[in-house]
Amino acid sequence: MSATPPLGNAGALGGEAWAPESHLGRHFLQIPGPTNVPESVLRALARPTLDHRGPEFQALARRIFARLGAVFGTEGPVVIYPASGTGAWEAALVNTLSPGDRVLMVETGWFARLWREMAERLGLEPVVIPTDWRHGADPAAIEAKLREDRDRRIKAVAVVHNETSTGCKSDIEAIRRAIDAADHPALLLVDTISSLGSMEYRHDAWRVDVTVAGSQKGLMLPPGLSFNAISAKALAAAETARLPRSFWDWRPMLRANREGFFPFTPATNLLYGLDAALDLLLGTGLEAVFARHARHAEATRHAVRAWGLELQCLEPRHYSSSLTAVRVPEGASADGLRALILQRFNMSLGNGLGPLADRVFRIGHLGAFGDLELIGTLGGIEMGLAASGIPYRAGGVQAALDFLALPPGWS
Ligand SMILES: *Cc1c(COP(=O)(O)O)cnc(C)c1O
Repeated sequence: MSATPPLGNAGALGGEAWAPESHLGRHFLQIPGPTNVPESVLRALARPTLDHRGPEFQALARRIFARLGAVFGTEGPVVIYPASGTGAWEAALVNTLSPGDRVLMVETGWFARLWREMAERLGLEPVVIPTDWRHGADPAAIEAKLREDRDRRIKAVAVVHNETSTGCKSDIEAIRRAIDAADHPALLLVDTISSLGSMEYRHDAWRVDVTVAGSQKGLMLPPGLSFNAISAKALAAAETARLPRSFWDWRPMLRANREGFFPFTPATNLLYGLDAALDLLLGTGLEAVFARHARHAEATRHAVRAWGLELQCLEPRHYSSSLTAVRVPEGASADGLRALILQRFNMSLGNGLGPLADRVFRIGHLGAFGDLELIGTLGGIEMGLAASGIPYRAGGVQAALDFLALPPGWS
């Protein structure tokens, strides 16, 4: 117990010694991103860096571009930035919009709020539909706002598919229908940073115009890559959009990508990793990957209910498959529980964000994650609850085991 505390955790632990990996077994990284990186991806990342203007890189890039669209459900282009997801948020806005454009945004939680604040800083005019941070976006509210917008000043609708701060998803297909029902020409921009590769998503079939994604969640890579999948309508909008853009400009990127190259140095080793992650996702089959996530999420909710704790997401049809946000009882500290679990069991859980700070903890059950990791995760939480003094009932792990023992087709 003598290792130097990592700076990020020192405060949360109240200065107590941090438990090194060698002492307490493998670290359980059960935050809702970054997620655990599988062995084959780690090995791919460790390959020697290559010439990004040479033929070997070109073959790698072409292999990725030929397969990446399947994960987004698109036949159209997907651009890859060496940036966290926040960069791809900015790319979606600056490539399609002009100063003063109105953007209809639903504040489903912390990430939706951050995207809205970015839109304001860029000189856009967000029109915000608030929520209680316990539901997904309401398509009827979107339709009503679009119907009110008779002079068509709203140029885009921007929503977060899976709100990572609350564990609530939004029904993108229903939002598409709402835009169509209002007969409104706004673009549809969707953040799938914590759902892509974990939950069903169809860029083309749902006629999304820009899909924003990141590498470090369902795609099982370290942080550092982000993505825009782009519709033909969004590409056309990029020709007339007037927000300043340079690094994020799709056009030089798409020109270079057509030849299997990038307009600047790409994150070559992360692309090796992406190639290996696509092998895993497409080799397993996306339907099977989504079913596994849904099953683990349901098992987690069984555990939470057995503990007598409350889910942050109130609406079953909005439940996320990639994470579960759990409320602690009044007077209890979610951050205290997380610090205790990190120290004793070497597991990281997600913190509450913004107004949910210390009120919820978040269980990431996405990416490279099997039944045994799930049971280990829930076991660590149940042991942590027992040690914390937080009122709870025993039996959450057993409830999850009972659920996992059900035959396939449980839902
Ligand atoms: C993680 C996340 C982000 C932020 O992405 P960064 O990679 O941290 O920039 C944005 N939106 C959602 C829904 C997320 O889960």
